[in-house]
Amino acid sequence: MKIVVASHNKKKIGELNALLSKYIDGVELLSLDDVGMFDEIVEDGDSFEANAYIKARAAARSGYIGVGDDSGLCVKALGGAPGIFSARYAGEHGDDEANNDLLLKNLEDKDSRAAEFVCALACVFPDGEHEDFCVIGKAGGEILTERRGERGFGYDPLFYYAPLGKTFAEMGADEKNGISHRGEAVKLLGERLVKIKENL
Ligand code: IMP
Repeated sequence: MKIVVASHNKKKIGELNALLSKYIDGVELLSLDDVGMFDEIVEDGDSFEANAYIKARAAARSGYIGVGDDSGLCVKALGGAPGIFSARYAGEHGDDEANNDLLLKNLEDKDSRAAEFVCALACVFPDGEHEDFCVIGKAGGEILTERRGERGFGYDPLFYYAPLGKTFAEMGADEKNGISHRGEAVKLLGERLVKIKENL
């Protein structure tokens, strides 16, 4: 089973491969570059699911099964922000420090600091033989008033996961994957793909 992941990032695909192989054997994950697709995909959906589908559909134009992902942080007291704008909450795409600073500022006068990470993974079949689907993984926590931990990326240093008494930035990769939104979404994807592979 060959799958094209809507990403140019080999590291991201390697991590997805390691996670997915816990649930399914015999899947080869290819990047967009591997199939000669170099155009930028415009993620202009209004939800994580819509963006994941946009990316998966673009990848499926390769002729292989396409998988696309979108993820982010939703904070209850901020009406779900930063949401789909998580990567560029403070303006510049991927400026984690500025994003975290803005989040702390916007939560200064709020009573609730409840938040959840969300990860959508969409799977699109080029031949229409199977129904396209999207799985959603979530992890609930709360936003601390200051950063804790050195690992991870994005909002990890501010995201406190009470059951383990740690922020995501204080967890190792395996520990985080075991309880994270991405870990859950990949598990759900793997379980769906196992069933599809059985019927191929
Ligand atoms: P992407 O869709 O995986 O590129 O994630 C979009 C943005 O959401 C990232 O740039 C981060 O700001 C945030 N984000 C998503 N997942 C995580 C996570 O596991 N930890 C911290 N930040 C995350």
